[in-house]
Amino acid sequence: MDTAHSYYVAGHRGMVGSAVVRALRAKGCTKILTARHSELDLTNQAATRAWFSEHKPDVVIVAAAKVGGIGANSAANAVFLYENLMIAANVVDAAYRAGCKRLLFLGSSCIYPRMAPQPIPESALLTAPLEKTNEGYALAKISGLKLCEFYRRQFGVCYHSLMPTNLYGTGDNYDVVGGHVLPTMIRKFELARTEGAPFVDLWGTGTPLREFLHVDDLAEACLYALEMENPPDLMNVGSGREVTIRQLAEIVRTATGCPAEIRWDASKPDGTPRKLCDSSLLRSFGWTPKIDLEEGIARTVAEYREALARGDIRLGH
Ligand code: GDP
Repeated sequence: MDTAHSYYVAGHRGMVGSAVVRALRAKGCTKILTARHSELDLTNQAATRAWFSEHKPDVVIVAAAKVGGIGANSAANAVFLYENLMIAANVVDAAYRAGCKRLLFLGSSCIYPRMAPQPIPESALLTAPLEKTNEGYALAKISGLKLCEFYRRQFGVCYHSLMPTNLYGTGDNYDVVGGHVLPTMIRKFELARTEGAPFVDLWGTGTPLREFLHVDDLAEACLYALEMENPPDLMNVGSGREVTIRQLAEIVRTATGCPAEIRWDASKPDGTPRKLCDSSLLRSFGWTPKIDLEEGIARTVAEYREALARGDIRLGH
Protein backbone atom coordinates (compact mmCIF):
# COMPACT_ATOMS: atom_id res chain seq x y z
CA MET A 1 0.00 0.00 0.00
CA ASP A 2 1.12 3.56 -0.53
CA THR A 3 1.36 4.60 3.11
CA ALA A 4 1.66 8.25 2.09
CA HIS A 5 -1.93 8.15 0.79
CA SER A 6 -4.96 9.01 2.84
CA TYR A 7 -7.63 6.30 2.94
CA TYR A 8 -11.26 6.99 3.75
CA VAL A 9 -13.05 3.87 4.95
CA ALA A 10 -16.77 4.55 4.71
CA GLY A 11 -18.55 2.31 7.22
CA HIS A 12 -15.55 1.81 9.51
CA ARG A 13 -17.70 0.70 12.45
CA GLY A 14 -19.24 -2.20 10.53
CA MET A 15 -17.81 -5.69 10.23
CA VAL A 16 -16.22 -5.09 6.80
CA GLY A 17 -15.08 -1.52 7.38
CA SER A 18 -13.43 -2.33 10.71
CA ALA A 19 -11.60 -5.27 9.12
CA VAL A 20 -10.36 -2.98 6.32
CA VAL A 21 -9.12 -0.43 8.89
CA ARG A 22 -7.24 -3.21 10.76
CA ALA A 23 -5.70 -4.44 7.50
CA LEU A 24 -4.63 -0.92 6.45
CA ARG A 25 -3.04 -0.32 9.85
CA ALA A 26 -1.23 -3.66 9.64
CA LYS A 27 0.25 -2.52 6.32
CA GLY A 28 1.57 0.66 7.96
CA CYS A 29 -1.03 3.13 6.66
CA THR A 30 -1.50 5.93 9.16
CA LYS A 31 -3.67 8.39 7.26
CA ILE A 32 -6.94 6.54 7.73
CA LEU A 33 -9.99 8.80 7.63
CA THR A 34 -13.25 7.76 9.21
CA ALA A 35 -16.50 9.45 10.15
CA ARG A 36 -19.14 8.09 12.46
CA HIS A 37 -22.74 7.99 11.31
CA SER A 38 -23.56 10.82 13.74
CA GLU A 39 -20.85 12.99 12.12
CA LEU A 40 -21.64 12.18 8.49
CA ASP A 41 -24.87 10.80 7.06
CA LEU A 42 -23.88 9.33 3.69
CA THR A 43 -27.49 9.35 2.50
CA ASN A 44 -27.31 13.16 2.70
CA GLN A 45 -25.85 14.52 -0.55
CA ALA A 46 -24.90 17.99 0.74
CA ALA A 47 -23.25 16.62 3.87
CA THR A 48 -21.34 13.99 1.87
CA ARG A 49 -20.08 16.55 -0.67
CA ALA A 50 -19.01 18.91 2.12
CA TRP A 51 -17.13 16.15 3.95
CA PHE A 52 -15.26 15.06 0.81
CA SER A 53 -14.31 18.58 -0.23
CA GLU A 54 -12.92 19.20 3.24
CA HIS A 55 -10.98 15.93 3.64
CA LYS A 56 -10.08 15.06 0.01
CA PRO A 57 -9.10 11.42 0.55
CA ASP A 58 -6.70 9.86 -1.98
CA VAL A 59 -8.38 6.46 -1.78
CA VAL A 60 -11.95 5.58 -0.79
CA ILE A 61 -13.24 2.18 0.30
CA VAL A 62 -17.02 1.99 0.36
CA ALA A 63 -17.96 -0.45 3.11
CA ALA A 64 -20.90 1.61 4.32
CA ALA A 65 -24.27 0.01 3.71
CA LYS A 66 -27.51 -0.88 5.31
CA VAL A 67 -27.20 -4.65 5.58
CA GLY A 68 -29.18 -7.49 7.06
CA GLY A 69 -30.14 -11.11 6.68
CA ILE A 70 -33.05 -12.59 4.85
CA GLY A 71 -35.55 -11.52 7.54
CA ALA A 72 -34.50 -7.86 7.60
CA ASN A 73 -34.24 -7.61 3.81
CA SER A 74 -37.55 -9.20 2.93
CA ALA A 75 -39.37 -7.02 5.48
CA ALA A 76 -37.85 -3.74 4.28
CA ASN A 77 -36.90 -3.81 0.60
CA ALA A 78 -37.87 -0.12 0.30
CA VAL A 79 -35.40 0.98 2.96
CA PHE A 80 -32.62 -1.31 1.70
CA LEU A 81 -33.00 0.06 -1.84
CA TYR A 82 -33.31 3.72 -0.85
CA GLU A 83 -30.49 3.93 1.70
CA ASN A 84 -27.98 1.88 -0.24
CA LEU A 85 -28.74 3.71 -3.47
CA MET A 86 -28.22 7.08 -1.80
CA ILE A 87 -24.97 5.99 -0.15
CA ALA A 88 -23.57 4.66 -3.44
CA ALA A 89 -24.61 7.69 -5.50
CA ASN A 90 -23.48 10.27 -2.95
CA VAL A 91 -20.11 8.67 -2.16
CA VAL A 92 -19.10 7.93 -5.75
CA ASP A 93 -20.06 11.36 -7.02
CA ALA A 94 -18.65 13.28 -4.02
CA ALA A 95 -15.36 11.36 -4.29
CA TYR A 96 -15.11 12.25 -7.97
CA ARG A 97 -15.90 15.93 -7.35
CA ALA A 98 -13.25 16.03 -4.61
CA GLY A 99 -10.61 14.76 -7.03
CA CYS A 100 -10.34 11.21 -5.70
CA LYS A 101 -8.80 8.94 -8.33
CA ARG A 102 -9.20 5.58 -6.63
CA LEU A 103 -12.32 4.06 -5.12
CA LEU A 104 -13.23 0.51 -4.21
CA PHE A 105 -16.93 -0.25 -3.94
CA LEU A 106 -18.13 -3.27 -2.00
CA GLY A 107 -21.30 -5.09 -2.80
CA SER A 108 -22.49 -8.62 -2.31
CA SER A 109 -23.02 -11.74 -4.38
CA CYS A 110 -26.80 -11.22 -4.10
CA ILE A 111 -26.46 -8.85 -7.06
CA TYR A 112 -26.51 -11.92 -9.30
CA PRO A 113 -29.68 -13.54 -10.69
CA ARG A 114 -31.47 -16.02 -8.46
CA MET A 115 -30.93 -18.81 -10.96
CA ALA A 116 -27.42 -17.83 -12.06
CA PRO A 117 -25.06 -20.57 -13.28
CA GLN A 118 -22.96 -21.97 -10.41
CA PRO A 119 -20.28 -21.06 -9.56
CA ILE A 120 -21.45 -17.55 -10.49
CA PRO A 121 -19.11 -15.68 -12.84
CA GLU A 122 -19.07 -11.88 -12.99
CA SER A 123 -20.61 -12.17 -16.48
CA ALA A 124 -23.89 -13.44 -14.96
CA LEU A 125 -24.73 -9.88 -13.88
CA LEU A 126 -28.08 -8.65 -15.25
CA THR A 127 -28.81 -11.78 -17.25
CA ALA A 128 -31.98 -12.91 -15.40
CA PRO A 129 -34.35 -11.89 -12.55
CA LEU A 130 -33.04 -11.35 -9.01
CA GLU A 131 -33.89 -13.18 -5.80
CA LYS A 132 -36.98 -11.37 -4.42
CA THR A 133 -36.12 -11.50 -0.70
CA ASN A 134 -33.25 -9.00 -1.11
CA GLU A 135 -34.07 -7.35 -4.42
CA GLY A 136 -33.88 -3.82 -2.98
CA TYR A 137 -30.38 -4.29 -1.63
CA ALA A 138 -29.25 -6.01 -4.83
CA LEU A 139 -30.59 -3.25 -7.10
CA ALA A 140 -28.79 -0.61 -5.02
CA LYS A 141 -25.51 -2.53 -5.20
CA ILE A 142 -25.87 -3.10 -8.95
CA SER A 143 -26.39 0.66 -9.38
CA GLY A 144 -23.30 1.32 -7.24
CA LEU A 145 -21.05 -0.93 -9.25
CA LYS A 146 -22.41 0.53 -12.50
CA LEU A 147 -21.73 4.04 -11.18
CA CYS A 148 -18.11 3.03 -10.62
CA GLU A 149 -17.87 1.49 -14.08
CA PHE A 150 -19.44 4.52 -15.77
CA TYR A 151 -17.44 7.14 -13.84
CA ARG A 152 -14.32 5.17 -14.77
CA ARG A 153 -15.27 5.14 -18.48
CA GLN A 154 -16.51 8.71 -18.65
CA PHE A 155 -14.09 10.48 -16.34
CA GLY A 156 -10.97 8.28 -16.30
CA VAL A 157 -10.95 7.62 -12.55
CA CYS A 158 -10.07 4.13 -11.28
CA TYR A 159 -13.31 3.20 -9.50
CA HIS A 160 -13.97 -0.53 -9.28
CA SER A 161 -15.88 -3.11 -7.27
CA LEU A 162 -15.57 -6.32 -5.30
CA MET A 163 -18.54 -8.58 -4.70
CA PRO A 164 -17.96 -10.73 -1.64
CA THR A 165 -19.84 -13.88 -0.85
CA ASN A 166 -21.55 -14.31 2.58
CA LEU A 167 -19.20 -12.87 5.20
CA TYR A 168 -18.69 -13.58 8.88
CA GLY A 169 -16.15 -12.86 11.60
CA THR A 170 -14.99 -10.18 13.99
CA GLY A 171 -17.53 -7.46 14.75
CA ASP A 172 -20.53 -9.23 13.22
CA ASN A 173 -24.13 -8.38 14.07
CA TYR A 174 -25.72 -10.94 16.40
CA ASP A 175 -29.33 -9.82 16.04
CA VAL A 176 -31.30 -13.09 15.74
CA VAL A 177 -34.21 -11.55 13.83
CA GLY A 178 -32.50 -9.32 11.26
CA GLY A 179 -29.02 -10.84 11.20
CA HIS A 180 -27.30 -13.15 8.75
CA VAL A 181 -27.40 -16.89 9.18
CA LEU A 182 -23.92 -17.56 10.57
CA PRO A 183 -23.81 -15.07 13.47
CA THR A 184 -27.46 -15.87 14.18
CA MET A 185 -26.64 -19.56 14.48
CA ILE A 186 -23.70 -18.81 16.79
CA ARG A 187 -25.94 -16.76 19.04
CA LYS A 188 -28.81 -19.27 19.00
CA PHE A 189 -26.50 -22.21 19.85
CA GLU A 190 -24.71 -20.22 22.54
CA LEU A 191 -27.99 -19.12 24.13
CA ALA A 192 -29.28 -22.71 24.05
CA ARG A 193 -26.04 -23.97 25.62
CA THR A 194 -25.96 -21.44 28.43
CA GLU A 195 -29.69 -21.72 29.13
CA GLY A 196 -29.72 -25.52 28.78
CA ALA A 197 -32.50 -25.30 26.16
CA PRO A 198 -33.36 -28.63 24.46
CA PHE A 199 -33.95 -27.14 20.99
CA VAL A 200 -32.44 -24.62 18.61
CA ASP A 201 -34.93 -23.28 16.06
CA LEU A 202 -33.47 -22.62 12.63
CA TRP A 203 -35.13 -21.33 9.50
CA GLY A 204 -36.13 -22.97 6.25
CA THR A 205 -35.33 -26.51 5.21
CA GLY A 206 -31.57 -26.52 5.80
CA THR A 207 -30.98 -27.53 2.18
CA PRO A 208 -29.81 -24.22 0.60
CA LEU A 209 -26.12 -24.02 -0.19
CA ARG A 210 -24.02 -21.07 0.90
CA GLU A 211 -20.38 -20.09 0.66
CA PHE A 212 -18.74 -18.19 3.55
CA LEU A 213 -15.65 -16.02 3.72
CA HIS A 214 -13.98 -14.65 6.84
CA VAL A 215 -14.02 -10.85 6.83
CA ASP A 216 -10.23 -10.68 7.35
CA ASP A 217 -9.80 -12.58 4.08
CA LEU A 218 -12.06 -10.02 2.39
CA ALA A 219 -10.05 -7.14 3.88
CA GLU A 220 -6.88 -8.66 2.40
CA ALA A 221 -8.68 -8.97 -0.95
CA CYS A 222 -9.62 -5.28 -0.79
CA LEU A 223 -6.02 -4.20 -0.30
CA TYR A 224 -4.93 -6.65 -2.98
CA ALA A 225 -7.41 -5.16 -5.47
CA LEU A 226 -6.35 -1.61 -4.56
CA GLU A 227 -2.75 -2.51 -5.42
CA MET A 228 -3.71 -3.55 -8.94
CA GLU A 229 -2.86 -0.99 -11.57
CA ASN A 230 -5.70 -1.80 -13.93
CA PRO A 231 -8.24 -3.92 -12.04
CA PRO A 232 -11.32 -5.39 -13.72
CA ASP A 233 -14.46 -3.34 -13.02
CA LEU A 234 -15.98 -6.14 -11.01
CA MET A 235 -14.46 -9.12 -9.21
CA ASN A 236 -16.04 -11.74 -6.98
CA VAL A 237 -14.45 -12.67 -3.67
CA GLY A 238 -15.26 -16.03 -2.17
CA SER A 239 -13.70 -19.00 -0.42
CA GLY A 240 -14.78 -21.48 -3.08
CA ARG A 241 -16.23 -23.85 -0.47
CA GLU A 242 -19.96 -24.51 -0.27
CA VAL A 243 -21.87 -25.99 2.65
CA THR A 244 -25.56 -26.66 3.15
CA ILE A 245 -27.26 -24.65 5.89
CA ARG A 246 -27.64 -28.00 7.69
CA GLN A 247 -23.86 -28.67 7.51
CA LEU A 248 -23.22 -25.13 8.68
CA ALA A 249 -25.46 -25.75 11.69
CA GLU A 250 -23.39 -28.84 12.57
CA ILE A 251 -20.12 -26.90 12.32
CA VAL A 252 -21.53 -24.18 14.59
CA ARG A 253 -22.92 -26.79 17.00
CA THR A 254 -19.45 -28.39 17.24
CA ALA A 255 -17.71 -25.04 17.69
CA THR A 256 -20.09 -24.02 20.47
CA GLY A 257 -20.29 -27.46 22.09
CA CYS A 258 -24.07 -27.15 22.32
CA PRO A 259 -25.98 -30.46 22.68
CA ALA A 260 -29.42 -29.05 21.72
CA GLU A 261 -31.46 -30.63 18.96
CA ILE A 262 -32.13 -28.61 15.81
CA ARG A 263 -35.72 -27.89 14.73
CA TRP A 264 -36.22 -26.60 11.19
CA ASP A 265 -39.01 -24.07 10.71
CA ALA A 266 -40.05 -24.53 7.08
CA SER A 267 -42.48 -21.60 7.33
CA LYS A 268 -39.40 -19.32 7.20
CA PRO A 269 -37.84 -18.61 3.79
CA ASP A 270 -34.96 -20.57 2.29
CA GLY A 271 -33.95 -17.72 0.01
CA THR A 272 -31.89 -18.45 -3.07
CA PRO A 273 -31.14 -22.21 -3.36
CA ARG A 274 -27.45 -21.82 -4.10
CA LYS A 275 -25.00 -18.93 -4.16
CA LEU A 276 -21.42 -19.89 -4.92
CA CYS A 277 -19.16 -17.22 -6.39
CA ASP A 278 -16.70 -17.96 -9.14
CA SER A 279 -13.68 -16.13 -7.71
CA SER A 280 -11.23 -17.37 -10.33
CA LEU A 281 -10.74 -13.86 -11.75
CA LEU A 282 -9.35 -12.42 -8.50
CA ARG A 283 -7.48 -15.67 -7.82
CA SER A 284 -5.87 -15.44 -11.28
CA PHE A 285 -4.21 -12.24 -10.04
CA GLY A 286 -2.74 -14.13 -7.08
CA TRP A 287 -5.18 -13.59 -4.16
CA THR A 288 -6.15 -16.61 -2.06
CA PRO A 289 -8.23 -16.88 1.13
CA LYS A 290 -6.35 -18.09 4.21
CA ILE A 291 -8.93 -18.83 6.91
CA ASP A 292 -10.86 -22.08 6.58
CA LEU A 293 -14.45 -22.30 7.74
CA GLU A 294 -14.08 -24.52 10.82
CA GLU A 295 -11.11 -22.48 12.07
CA GLY A 296 -12.84 -19.17 11.31
CA ILE A 297 -16.04 -20.23 13.08
CA ALA A 298 -14.12 -21.46 16.14
CA ARG A 299 -12.32 -18.12 16.30
CA THR A 300 -15.59 -16.24 15.88
CA VAL A 301 -17.27 -18.20 18.68
CA ALA A 302 -14.32 -17.36 20.98
CA GLU A 303 -14.59 -13.67 20.02
CA TYR A 304 -18.35 -13.77 20.56
CA ARG A 305 -17.83 -15.11 24.09
CA GLU A 306 -15.21 -12.46 24.86
CA ALA A 307 -17.42 -9.67 23.47
CA LEU A 308 -20.38 -10.95 25.46
CA ALA A 309 -18.31 -10.99 28.65
CA ARG A 310 -17.32 -7.36 27.95
CA GLY A 311 -20.97 -6.46 27.25
CA ASP A 312 -19.95 -5.47 23.73
CA ILE A 313 -22.14 -7.53 21.37
CA ARG A 314 -23.76 -5.84 18.39
CA LEU A 315 -27.43 -6.75 18.35
CA GLY A 316 -28.79 -4.38 15.75
CA HIS A 317 -27.85 -2.03 12.95
P1 GDP B 1 -29.02 -14.97 2.39
O1 GDP B 1 -27.75 -15.77 2.29
O2 GDP B 1 -28.97 -13.67 1.68
O3 GDP B 1 -30.23 -15.78 1.99
O4 GDP B 1 -29.26 -14.54 3.90
P2 GDP B 1 -28.90 -15.19 5.32
O5 GDP B 1 -27.50 -14.96 5.69
O6 GDP B 1 -29.95 -14.65 6.27
O7 GDP B 1 -29.03 -16.78 5.13
C1 GDP B 1 -30.25 -17.31 4.95
C2 GDP B 1 -30.23 -18.83 4.83
O8 GDP B 1 -29.99 -19.44 6.09
C3 GDP B 1 -31.62 -19.24 4.39
O9 GDP B 1 -31.56 -20.47 3.68
C4 GDP B 1 -32.31 -19.43 5.74
O10 GDP B 1 -33.46 -20.26 5.62
C5 GDP B 1 -31.19 -20.11 6.52
N1 GDP B 1 -31.33 -19.95 7.97
C6 GDP B 1 -31.48 -20.97 8.88
N2 GDP B 1 -31.63 -20.50 10.10
C7 GDP B 1 -31.55 -19.16 10.03
C8 GDP B 1 -31.63 -18.12 11.01
O11 GDP B 1 -31.82 -18.35 12.21
N3 GDP B 1 -31.47 -16.84 10.55
C9 GDP B 1 -31.24 -16.55 9.23
N4 GDP B 1 -31.07 -15.27 8.86
N5 GDP B 1 -31.19 -17.51 8.29
C10 GDP B 1 -31.34 -18.80 8.68
